[in-house]
Amino acid sequence: MEYAALVDVYDRLAATASNNEKRDILAETFAGAGDLLPRLVVLARGRLFPAYDRGELGVSSSLTLEAVLAATGAAEDAVRERWRETGDLGDAAAWAVDNGGQQTLFSRDLTVERVHDDLRGLADFEGEGSQGRRVDALAGLVSDATADEARYVVRTALGHLRVGVGEGTIRDALAVAFLDDGGESVDAVERAYQVTNDFGVVAETARGGGVEALRELDVELFRPIQLMLAEKAETLAEGLADAAGDGGEAVHCEYKYDGIRVQIHVDGDEVRLFTRRLEEVTLQFPDVVRAVREGVAADRAIFDGELVGYAPETIREKSRSPVVFQTLSRRVKRESDIEAMVGEIPVVVHLFDCLYDGETTLDRPASERLERLGAAFSSVAPDPEGGVAGLERATSASASSEDPDSAATLYEEALERGHEGLMMKNATAAYQPGRRVGRMLKLKPTMEPLDLVVTRAKYSEGRRSEWLGRLYLACYDPESDELLEVGRLSTGYTDEELADLTEELEARIVNREGRLVELEPEVVLEVAYEEIQSSSEYDSGYALRFPRFLNVRADLGRTDADTIERVESLFDSQ
Ligand code: ATP
Repeated sequence: MEYAALVDVYDRLAATASNNEKRDILAETFAGAGDLLPRLVVLARGRLFPAYDRGELGVSSSLTLEAVLAATGAAEDAVRERWRETGDLGDAAAWAVDNGGQQTLFSRDLTVERVHDDLRGLADFEGEGSQGRRVDALAGLVSDATADEARYVVRTALGHLRVGVGEGTIRDALAVAFLDDGGESVDAVERAYQVTNDFGVVAETARGGGVEALRELDVELFRPIQLMLAEKAETLAEGLADAAGDGGEAVHCEYKYDGIRVQIHVDGDEVRLFTRRLEEVTLQFPDVVRAVREGVAADRAIFDGELVGYAPETIREKSRSPVVFQTLSRRVKRESDIEAMVGEIPVVVHLFDCLYDGETTLDRPASERLERLGAAFSSVAPDPEGGVAGLERATSASASSEDPDSAATLYEEALERGHEGLMMKNATAAYQPGRRVGRMLKLKPTMEPLDLVVTRAKYSEGRRSEWLGRLYLACYDPESDELLEVGRLSTGYTDEELADLTEELEARIVNREGRLVELEPEVVLEVAYEEIQSSSEYDSGYALRFPRFLNVRADLGRTDADTIERVESLFDSQ
């Protein structure tokens, strides 16, 4: 397939704001995709890897700029100027192709196959000289591209297509393209995507075997699935009532720990750990791998749990003291001398779900999954000197909305022991990967902070003038895959935190205008605030009052930020 034909699809997607129209454009494209289907469903969102694979191309905006200049012969200042004006290096690349003056004598037409394979190939360059080879490969594509093609090649390389297609649109388009009308089809695609985390597989299965074949798809070990997320409760009574639902079902309560969410896959002796963003962290936690080998009885299993760091001197006590998340995150960042960290920041994994134990349990009620969790492993006491982490069940109690006492006691005890709050889970509900569901609620004592993406920043005045101290924050809109600004942050950090943050942000500058810089939206911050106001100042329509910096959420990316829907519901609940 000519890449030009896909570019035409992108242009049509970008030209309409209607989700139904986008769905129909994609459905038509998928239906006629032939062998290209698995690649097209991934490319439709400007991706190159399925969602379970955190493959990185290793392409920054400065590398891309270098490739565009090399391919087109355009003057750097002129391309930068264009980039500044539009805020999009893709647009600047298109301009450079038209105005760069480079004639390519033997240009080959671009095909979808070539663009896909060459861009994916960028991820494979390793070691010395790999950056230079990436520039050459990308320049090779741009020099064979028309202006319109260059725009999307560059946007895809940078991982942001800007045509407003979210996961829901792909799901709906697959249902329209290959299945009979009706909600059942959409549900089947949705579930198949939840278990496989791979639209390529879902698309081929839907085309080949319809709804029935989709239902047969199952989780696979070592292919991480999206984790189920929680809704926030304002009070204990509200949380219990929501978790219990209209049927007043039993509620399972647990400590809400403040650590790292881990999904543990086990196949015999092979153990691998994935974070909430599906990044693999097995190498960083050899102590957890040993504990799992020691404690897990099931031959093949997938568990969900929270990995928590504790003060070493308290690790053997029942009421051990958790360390703050930033301390624990040192273990994730560490690349050398990993075993030394095992004693310095010992950890315990608190398991709270079993997603697979030889067969998938996702559709089973939570109470059954917990029973199966109990049968699949035995607790392991932490032994930092021996290099073994702790492995145990999350501390829990059952409760109901009529009888909230046990939940209240557990909540108090969790806070007293330095944990974050309480989780309340409907005992009959299935596991819903990737969803923020009303059957799992979290309660914390403070006003819920928001996780927001830094889109732009300004250097401070006066003493802190070297640092990017004024940060524009945005929430995420999954429908359009866009970021919407909700306010500007300028307090809450220490000098040290601000210096670190500036370094992280400066590496992501795409454009400077005086003291204001525009950023690749990759840094997520946890932010407290007094209240949410409606405001025309920001494109979200809302503004945070008195936002305060709490943390950098290195474990989250652009699409994990709090959504516009969440901001709206917080605004409504004030
Ligand atoms: P937060 O910032 O409040 O941790 P989040 O956005 O990271 O929230 P949520 O789904 O909103 O994620 O809250 C649930 C998170 O709480 C989980 O992702 C998990 O990391 C953590 N957690 C701690 N203890 C539990 C537990 N017992 N059951 C489920 N999740 C737990």
